[in-house]
Amino acid sequence: MRPVPVICRAAVFGLLACAGIGLWPAAAGAQTWPVRPITLVVPFAAGGPTDVVARALSVPLGKALGQTIVVENKLGAGGTVAATTVARAAPDGYTFLIHHNGMATAPALYRKLPFNPLTDFEYVSQVVDVPMTLVARKDLPARDLPELLAYLKANRDKVNLAHAGLGAVSHLCGMVFRQAVGVDLTTVPYQGTGPAMLALLGGQVDLLCDQTTQTTPQIKSGAVRFYGVTTAQRIKALPDAPTLAEQGLKGFEVMVWHGIYAPKSTPREATEKFNTALRTALKDPAFATRMAELGAEQVPDAKLTPDGLRNWLKQEIDRWGPVIKSAGVYAD
Ligand code: ASP
Repeated sequence: MRPVPVICRAAVFGLLACAGIGLWPAAAGAQTWPVRPITLVVPFAAGGPTDVVARALSVPLGKALGQTIVVENKLGAGGTVAATTVARAAPDGYTFLIHHNGMATAPALYRKLPFNPLTDFEYVSQVVDVPMTLVARKDLPARDLPELLAYLKANRDKVNLAHAGLGAVSHLCGMVFRQAVGVDLTTVPYQGTGPAMLALLGGQVDLLCDQTTQTTPQIKSGAVRFYGVTTAQRIKALPDAPTLAEQGLKGFEVMVWHGIYAPKSTPREATEKFNTALRTALKDPAFATRMAELGAEQVPDAKLTPDGLRNWLKQEIDRWGPVIKSAGVYAD
């Protein structure tokens, strides 16, 4: 390696620089990752539940890494536009993706998926688990789940459900709900459930199944009708809320999990340091308190590893593939 030419201007560079010491290219390389801001790509609109987790996390994560985390919303096709972008991004350690169950459902939903979830990424860690809730516009006549089921039967094909595209958990939850109640629903896609929630609050759509990271404040303030949570057990953030399963929709269970990915061949130094910083960030008191208030649950340490994420992703692909195929839902 050749030394970088040194023009000796003592007033500017000082004595060592004048001697040429410390100005080899290796000196720049000696600065370890990360030396500049890191982009965290979110596959859905700003203000929605995935975005809420990413932005809350970006603060303690940036602190732990000593760099700014730039949250970038890359919208479209239920999260697959963002996943494709990150799969094709330079593997330089400065682009990461936060995504949810959509990473596992996309292979069954899209006949021509431009990326392979199991081979096109480096896996960093899972993040938090988030329950979902079934909510409706405030003036929908049905006040509880039995009334909603009766209303759906009496108004077949007239009720619509907002969602964030094929591959979104709001769509998946809607599909599971539709199968459980045996009533068809017209679906209305948005580029995230942030905008879908605005449409619900404005009375433009009827139903939405969405993460508690967005719905908890709306439920608590009474801005929406609320029919139950999608988890097997009741949740601490909404302790009085019944589950959909306990109200008769047997086996109804959808939990949203999140993973952090980097483009394939991203240096191990970056993914490992990101993982360590993430574990620190998840314990940050302000982040942990906010997440708990919004119903998010911590995940066990075994899932906070690259293998923990990849193995879970594989299991989820195997779980949802047949369900989606039997529902006959797909996009080209
Ligand atoms: N809740 C959305 C989904 O259905 C995504 C979002 O806007 O965060 O996947």
